[in-house]
Amino acid sequence: MHSELEQLLVLQDRQQKIRQIQTEIKTLPFERAHLESQLAATAAGVESLKQKGRQVEVERKKLELDVGTRTESISRLKTQQYQTRKNDEFQALGHEIERYENEIRKLEDEELELMIEADRLKGEIEAADKSARATKETISRQLTDLEAKLKALGSQQQELEAEREALAAQVDADLLDQFERLFNSKGDAAVVAVEHGVCTGCHMKVTTATASRVKAGKEIVSCENCGRILYDVA
Ligand SMILES: [Zn+2]
Repeated sequence: MHSELEQLLVLQDRQQKIRQIQTEIKTLPFERAHLESQLAATAAGVESLKQKGRQVEVERKKLELDVGTRTESISRLKTQQYQTRKNDEFQALGHEIERYENEIRKLEDEELELMIEADRLKGEIEAADKSARATKETISRQLTDLEAKLKALGSQQQELEAEREALAAQVDADLLDQFERLFNSKGDAAVVAVEHGVCTGCHMKVTTATASRVKAGKEIVSCENCGRILYDVA
């Protein structure tokens, strides 16, 4: 094979590796953002349960106060009842006391329901807290791994860039220019094999003349269809 072609193939290999690494590095911020949003969602889930728990406690305290004011009213009414000598007034006070007592029973039923709800929430919060801690641990580890990966990819890229530069310095300037333009515009490869008379870059048949010039390996030959530089694999 033409020695310049061999140089180009090595150069191309390094450049393809660099491109792969750059693509991988570009996806890392998305991975990180995804992990961070998972973390935030988990924390928000726990916080919303805790908020519900506080709300229930506020409602329960309010019911307790309502029971307290009615209990006071009852004892005031009982004193009045004790002091009165009029039978109808005594009975009217009795009805009022009964009304308050009924209200207290209702309030206490509601309070009991809230206490059951508070208990249920307490269990839910504990479970959510536990699972959130586990999630946080996993995600923190994943984030650390991600940072390490980014660092490793960065130094790999640096090494490859240095290698690429050294290789490029050995290639004829015009040929290097042609190679770079092809490499950047084609997206995959600038130098491709001819297999069974077909260019593996564009998958079109090359002319017999082109195929034999490639086979001879004495010069740089381009695909007449896509312009990529050709080499023979046979
Ligand atoms: Zn081609």
